[in-house]
Amino acid sequence: IRTSIGKDEVLQLRKKHFCPAQSVSYANTDPLLIVRGQGSYLYDEEDNAYLDTRNNVCHVGHSHPRVAAAVADQVSKLNTNTRYLHPNLCLLAKRLTETFPAGSGLEVCFFVNSGSEANDLAVRLAFARTRSRNVIVVDHGYHGHTQQTIEISPYKFDHKGGEGARPNIHKVPCPDTFRGLHRGPDAAEQYASTVTEACKAAGSVAAFFVESGMSVGGVILPPRGYLQAAYSAVRQAGGICVADEVQVGFGRFGDFFWAFEEQGVVPDIVTMGKPFGNGMPLAAVVTTKAVSDAFHNGLEYFNTFGGNPVCCAAGLSVLEVIREEKLQDNAAKVGKYICEQIRQLSTKHELIGDVRGRGLFIGIEFVRNPETLEPATAETSEICSRMKSEHKILMSIDGPHDNVLVIKPPMCFSLTDADRMVRAMREILSTLVGPVAGQHVAHTPT
Ligand code: PMP
Repeated sequence: IRTSIGKDEVLQLRKKHFCPAQSVSYANTDPLLIVRGQGSYLYDEEDNAYLDTRNNVCHVGHSHPRVAAAVADQVSKLNTNTRYLHPNLCLLAKRLTETFPAGSGLEVCFFVNSGSEANDLAVRLAFARTRSRNVIVVDHGYHGHTQQTIEISPYKFDHKGGEGARPNIHKVPCPDTFRGLHRGPDAAEQYASTVTEACKAAGSVAAFFVESGMSVGGVILPPRGYLQAAYSAVRQAGGICVADEVQVGFGRFGDFFWAFEEQGVVPDIVTMGKPFGNGMPLAAVVTTKAVSDAFHNGLEYFNTFGGNPVCCAAGLSVLEVIREEKLQDNAAKVGKYICEQIRQLSTKHELIGDVRGRGLFIGIEFVRNPETLEPATAETSEICSRMKSEHKILMSIDGPHDNVLVIKPPMCFSLTDADRMVRAMREILSTLVGPVAGQHVAHTPT
């Protein structure tokens, strides 16, 4: 059996055996064959090192030795479904729920295999608890790839190939204070009132699905007070609040372990995924006893792989490493430094319209004109491409106009890594060619 094949053969096999809808980064230029990773670096088949500023899955660093050892140890002993008792599952539930604010009531866990599965289950929980089918979602939001989660994701249902909103899905504007509908000091209130209106229009409400920091929406940090007011409107209408922390949880915000804490709210359901297993398929839904009791209506819930001992071993070691290596503090420190450095760059380069972020969740929005905010889409694409081709730095682009460069690296991203990234960006910005017809390359977000 051949265990290793060259890049040309990989590309051929990819073309033959995969649907082009399964896109690859840098597909139009030079897709990468990545064979190993370490810390905040990825290595191709020729051992070229790429600085990874975009991978929020390998949360505590690529191939973290502690996580790798925990997984290897467990897989050599037992890996099976959750029909039997196993310490890993229950210990993980204990340690995970200890990360929530005291008194939150968030204590019942469902372990699943992906963020999509977590949100899919959260929809079912909300339907069971409220007996309503109406879901309020935030524009440009993404919650997953299953049929049900596509139906609650404007990023999918509103875009090419999508089928638009179903009658039970009620979309509210994204609380973007840079280019959104409301930008002034009353923006939080104004955006929250769109949620109140949606509740009224819906009649009854099952759930409000919202990311505590909107990722594919373009790294949007809702104005302070937005979630409090919106949650309160939803609860008054009898609905429950679901915080999708798939992108922003596990300390990425630096000062907070969970991004919703920044807004001083407590959700009824929290969904999480990506970073939880450091690459192993581990995701979860955490909720209150009241919601879980409503779900326990006679229909059994069984998930073959969800909560298996190997993925739970990964989750347990991720929680330990975040704490022991003080990665949350690192996210706060390095994130602040990056924002300061990019803001300094923005004094010389008008193209940088906005720099926003919390911890290691940072967006740089590029505009052609600071007054009209015309999105600098082609320029953003050029910067992203040249970061890779000239500096071996991997970045991604998000936002409805594809003009937000996103920085959400592994949480071990250092000040040295940050300096390298900023230096490269400075060099590119000072030699930017500008918009070239047909040059725009979409970069797949993760
Ligand atoms: N929610 C959010 C906010 C996400 O960004 C994603 C993935 N990009 C998902 C849910 C879906 O997670 P998964 O790809 O693990 O199914």
